[in-house]
Amino acid sequence: MTGRVVIVTGAARGLGAAIVRALLEDDCRVVAADRSPMDDAPLVTAVAAGKAVEVRVDLTDPSSGPSLVATALDSFGACDAVVSNAGIGGPSRSASDLGHDELLEVLRINLLGAVSLCRAAMPSLRASGRGRVVTIGSVFAERPSVDDGAYAMSKAALESLTRSIAVEEGRAGVTANVVAPGYILTDMHRAEASRLAGLAGIDPEVQLATLRERVPVGRHGIPEDVAETVRWLLSPEASYISGQTIRVDGALSIV
Ligand code: NDP
Repeated sequence: MTGRVVIVTGAARGLGAAIVRALLEDDCRVVAADRSPMDDAPLVTAVAAGKAVEVRVDLTDPSSGPSLVATALDSFGACDAVVSNAGIGGPSRSASDLGHDELLEVLRINLLGAVSLCRAAMPSLRASGRGRVVTIGSVFAERPSVDDGAYAMSKAALESLTRSIAVEEGRAGVTANVVAPGYILTDMHRAEASRLAGLAGIDPEVQLATLRERVPVGRHGIPEDVAETVRWLLSPEASYISGQTIRVDGALSIV
């Protein structure tokens, strides 16, 4: 993995920050993108050493993809992989009540941001000879929670985008896979637990414990569980894995 150039979105915290840390450990060069400040210590150190670049960007801007790829090419002369991780939870509303604009807002970040990045990166991914696309989906794409339809739709469409890339770009040496997390303890999961607690009229910590009890392996996931899977998918060992959805959920989705 040494020297491979990887763009990671949503890098400021949660899963994105853990993915960046894992890739830096493997001596990748990283373009870290987020709309929020990125102050994770390993990333700050890597930026100072010229091994990473931070880009403050709003992925709902259609120019965000081209600008991130241009940064990778200007800074490191290549773009070998993209990890489309940034996402938002969406409104707490039933699918049949969703307003056009609130659905569009979720799609703009969870789907169209990834479309823009993949479109801009594809010439470089093809040129790489072993280009990689990893998108961060969700097990809730196929098993939606109540009042979470916008999010589920966006993640299902992201999965579809990823599969299309896998079948269209395979002969160019590009693999594309989805990593679908379950309950991973991040700010987003805490917010979702609070939303569900509000619906049920219970304390958010009780809700968190209830969610944890549903997981057959008996614990919440941690960001590193997801980051290690992404690291493997980007590695040469995973070159024959494409068009797949890898669930990182402690068996949650099969119960
Ligand atoms: P977090 O909310 O903790 O982090 C997401 C990051 O993405 C934030 O830094 C956020 O910035 C950034 N971001 C959001 N929108 C934009 C945008 N328009 N432009 C640039 N950056 C943006 O989420 P997680 O780390 O938990 O989740 C990461 C991914 O994993 C998401 O796609 C999520 O849907 C998916 N996932 C997570 C699960 C979990 O249990 N945690 C379960 C299943 C899927 P800001 O702080 O400004 O919002």
